[in-house]
Amino acid sequence: MLQLDEISKVYSSGSNSVTALNNISLEIADGGFVAIVGPSGSGKSTMLNILGCLDRPTSGNYKVNGISTGTLKDDELAKLRNQQFGFVFQSFHLLPRFNALENVMLPFLYSNDLPEHPEQQAKTMLKRVGLEDRMHHLPGELSGGQQQRVAIARALVNDPAVILADEPTGALDSASGQGVMALLTQLNQEGKTVIVITHDAQIASYCNYTITMADGIIESSAANNKKNIPGV
Ligand code: ADP
Ligand code: ADP
Repeated sequence: MLQLDEISKVYSSGSNSVTALNNISLEIADGGFVAIVGPSGSGKSTMLNILGCLDRPTSGNYKVNGISTGTLKDDELAKLRNQQFGFVFQSFHLLPRFNALENVMLPFLYSNDLPEHPEQQAKTMLKRVGLEDRMHHLPGELSGGQQQRVAIARALVNDPAVILADEPTGALDSASGQGVMALLTQLNQEGKTVIVITHDAQIASYCNYTITMADGIIESSAANNKKNIPGV
């Protein structure tokens, strides 16, 4: 369970300050499948950064599974982040000189409790995303959709409870984007909490719930009508 309680985030530099999040309260239950939509500058990325413990709020309380993150030291917050969250980005963020398998194993470099067979675990995740025959390819040898699947395998390799995806289909053609959303839908059906930032209403419609942001507040939130979604 993720609980934002009266969260604000203010960015200050010199005499300028921007209120990116303005007193937001929100709960996302385990197993949720949530889209965060809204115009550029409405606070979506800031919200995702706080949800994923990449950044701290200026005020308010953020709890992950009942743990108040505000009282955690930076290294404790980093540990919570590595255990609980897997991140997927618009531009994949793969290392170009590492092959798919090596990219998926990267999180193990920062992990204190390695699985017994790290390489086997990474291979299992690549199989899970349908890339068993691409393990030794470099990112540049893969299509955009395949690169995003490698990034999703990497996000899964530490078995996080929550996948946070910031515009995961933004760099993909429509068919590849639908494939990525179908994969995220399956992962949600297997029990992962999945939170997706998107500009695209059709992408949002894969999720069970849509939160619409405007100017740092939640303008509306509603369950989705999931009829006629391609690829699911
Ligand atoms: P979105 O993801 O919806 O485009 P952001 O969360 O990126 O919105 O930004 C919300 C507001 O906060 C915008 O006005 C943006 O310019 C500002 N902002 C975001 N990050 C920073 C930062 N690191 N420093 C200063 N202002 C920022
Ligand atoms: P997005 O499409 O994800 O909203 P942005 O261009 O808003 O992309 O933000 C990209 C990154 O730059 C984010 O990490 C955000 O926190 C940061 N950022 C956004 N606006 C500002 C700003 N005004 N000053 C500094 N950093 C910013």
